[in-house]
Amino acid sequence: MRGSRALGALAAGGIAALLAGCVAPSEPSSASAAASRAPAPAPALAPTAAPPAKPVEPAVFAFSGEIEQGGWIKGVVPAGTRTLLFDGNEIAFGEHGAFFAAFDRDAGPSAVLAAKLADGRTVTRTLTVAPRAWQIERVNVARRKGGPTEAFMRIRRPELARIVAARAKRTGAEGWRQDFIWPVKGRISGRFGSQRIYRGEPGSYHGGTDITTGASGTPFVAPADGVVILAADHPFTLEGNLLMIDHGMGLNSAFLHCSDILVREGERVTQGQVIGRIGSTGRATGPHLHWALKWNDARIDPILLTGPMD
Ligand SMILES: [Zn+2]
Repeated sequence: MRGSRALGALAAGGIAALLAGCVAPSEPSSASAAASRAPAPAPALAPTAAPPAKPVEPAVFAFSGEIEQGGWIKGVVPAGTRTLLFDGNEIAFGEHGAFFAAFDRDAGPSAVLAAKLADGRTVTRTLTVAPRAWQIERVNVARRKGGPTEAFMRIRRPELARIVAARAKRTGAEGWRQDFIWPVKGRISGRFGSQRIYRGEPGSYHGGTDITTGASGTPFVAPADGVVILAADHPFTLEGNLLMIDHGMGLNSAFLHCSDILVREGERVTQGQVIGRIGSTGRATGPHLHWALKWNDARIDPILLTGPMD
């Protein structure tokens, strides 16, 4: 529902935003599915005194989403796009020019979309990434000194290697196009982005959302379609029984501390399918599901993809 709601809001009040950056007045491109669903863009297209002799396709980005730290956009590239760049890095786009991008927890204050077109033009669009007020807790305790021991790192290195290798897998999953759902409903016991400051020294922030149902063994479902890229066969030191799902286009989910994983690596899963059970394996003080979402290197706040839990 989230995506359609966002698109609806955009259609109602955001036509100027949708069409800003337009370089030539003409009919919306058929390649732009989002734009073609929007009402007639007449109000945003000021009449031009001298239209070009040869009409060219409108070269605009169409998108909707949550343009804030930890947020995301889904959109369609301008007609004729050959290469798409996000903050200077080339990113993928799919059939009919559809793309996904996200803003890291510490992103901003702006991000730039750039499309290099077949005719040599470049269309850019600067997005203002709204800052968030993260939950910060200042504690009068010194941060633990000393790094991990060599004994710990001997176990940890191969775990990290598996996580990195899983995230590098490109499965062609299409779940990124869907409106995400909550994997399980319960109490949110840990918010994305929250952080402790130890006597002025910041600890690492919380990279996911914790959901507690009060019990171990509660089943949880795939928030969107995908392919299993990691299903731990033994508990990892921190993550415990770790399950990772690729949703395609660089977007993936990680589910930590599971008591059971009910799918296998390489398996396709569909939105709403039961994939595991909540537990407290790894570093966890009680049973909860830690759900982390990443797009390439950007960490996303899951609530911005699902909408609030009702
Ligand atoms: Zn957590």
